[in-house]
Amino acid sequence: MSIKQNLDTVLKEIESHAERVGKDKKDIILIAVTKTVDISTIEEAINCGVTHVGENKPQEMVRKYEIIGKKVKWHFIGTLQTNKVKYIIDKVDLIHSLDRISLCQEIDKRAKSIDKVIDCLVQVNISKEDTKHGVMEEEAIDFIQNVSTNFSNIKIKGLMGMAPYSENKEDARVYFKKLKDLSKKIENINLHNVDMEYLSMGMSNDFGVAIEEGSNIVRVGTAIFGERDYSL
Ligand SMILES: *Cc1c(COP(=O)(O)O)cnc(C)c1O
Repeated sequence: MSIKQNLDTVLKEIESHAERVGKDKKDIILIAVTKTVDISTIEEAINCGVTHVGENKPQEMVRKYEIIGKKVKWHFIGTLQTNKVKYIIDKVDLIHSLDRISLCQEIDKRAKSIDKVIDCLVQVNISKEDTKHGVMEEEAIDFIQNVSTNFSNIKIKGLMGMAPYSENKEDARVYFKKLKDLSKKIENINLHNVDMEYLSMGMSNDFGVAIEEGSNIVRVGTAIFGERDYSL
């Protein structure tokens, strides 16, 4: 299958799931997850209409950004080490993985130094798996209140979460519901510098269910580019 055909399939699926919940496909942002994907393939995807890309390694993102530049929006979707923040701070459009105060301190400091406010999503560990990063659901509100009070160069724009992998997509639904409920709860508190505009949930195997449960950002890699080759 070509990138174009894969993208068309993904976009059709986004549209049909969006319609089921009375939304338009334009309400859903598709991030093409380009980790391990080479530049020429990313360029091909951009030529087919991709406008948002997601990377999970700072150095890899920088290398690609230097060639591709501002043609697309850049999403950082991986665990972010504090000592790597400086590489991406002037390039990233949305960080999806805000998950600890030490990271907030570093982002806020670096953002101030370039006079920028950085849009971020708080990653929530909805599945409570040890292997998944993110703040625990019970701690999310305290964490967000803390960021709202103390870090003026961070703007919280929503939440990000991942369901545990399962053969059955329907298993993901309960986790996505949980994240949506949490986002509503936070919205109702009305914190300064916090809004719940975005809910980043859903990957290749479960983005349809995620959209039905309120996701408006899906992060899709394999369904567009095929299986990743980590040996590259
Ligand atoms: C790799 C990755 C994705 C994309 O996963 P696919 O299953 O290939 O669609 C989405 N989100 C995050 C955080 C990732 O690391």
